[in-house]
Amino acid sequence: MSKRLRKGNLSIIEFQKEYDTEDKCREYFLQLRYPNGFVCPHCGGTRLGHVITRNLLRCKNCRKQISVTSGTVFHHTKISLIQIIWAMFLFANDKRGCSAKQIMKALKVNYDTALYLLQRLRKAMHRREERFILKGMIELDDTYVGTSTHGKKRGRGTDKSSVIVAVAKDTNKATFAKMKVAEDLKSETFKEFASGNIEKGSSIESGDCRALVKGLSENYSVDHKVFLPEKDMLTHLHRIISNLKAFINGTYHGVTKEHLQEYLDEFCFRFNRRGFAEHLFERLALAAFTA
Ligand SMILES: [Zn+2]
Repeated sequence: MSKRLRKGNLSIIEFQKEYDTEDKCREYFLQLRYPNGFVCPHCGGTRLGHVITRNLLRCKNCRKQISVTSGTVFHHTKISLIQIIWAMFLFANDKRGCSAKQIMKALKVNYDTALYLLQRLRKAMHRREERFILKGMIELDDTYVGTSTHGKKRGRGTDKSSVIVAVAKDTNKATFAKMKVAEDLKSETFKEFASGNIEKGSSIESGDCRALVKGLSENYSVDHKVFLPEKDMLTHLHRIISNLKAFINGTYHGVTKEHLQEYLDEFCFRFNRRGFAEHLFERLALAAFTA
């Protein structure tokens, strides 16, 4: 990424100065979309003409319209680019995440807009997380995450949802994690999770779950741990699960089952980039503005 795009070290005062107009935000998003310079998707021309609306320009060569947000997670949005960039800044710069109510207050937008902004950013995180798979030594197990039934017919309460969690590790530390909501814990479900998220031939350490071992032993070498009370075998996995639960309960009281996967994606996106925490804004911006 070019130096011009590095925004990780900006203070809130510097950030405010840098992006105080729609033109400046559009310029930044265009750099993210076309890091090697603009190339018209219609004619291959490389020169941009005048601005039609804040997020619509014209190709100087073929005169066709170019939208800054088309094909991105903000496709067809009517929200101002300044509001989008600030939602990204606030969302990225609090490692606990932020709720739609926080965005609503900070940006003075209505709740639906705040929710839309965060859902689109989580979608961008999801797209990035989908791109890679774990390999090497993996700890894998399932857990239950409490989900809210708020808004459902039977009133407010809690449910539990099954989540499959996999953590890759390197000698003595966890490196990357992937998580998925599971409808059931049958061997086929574990198999499907593994084939989409773990490279074949990896070594898997797992808990005492027969369905899991049965689902995985075909393509992986599975070390099936029987838990002894004095020895917690899956230490990285259990630490991450407890962090996940604190993250969901701390910032997002009452995640529904329907939206749980989005929060798992957010958690993993943050966890997998924890070594680059100060650059999380630009990682997120790039994820959101790559078509
Ligand atoms: Zn063109």
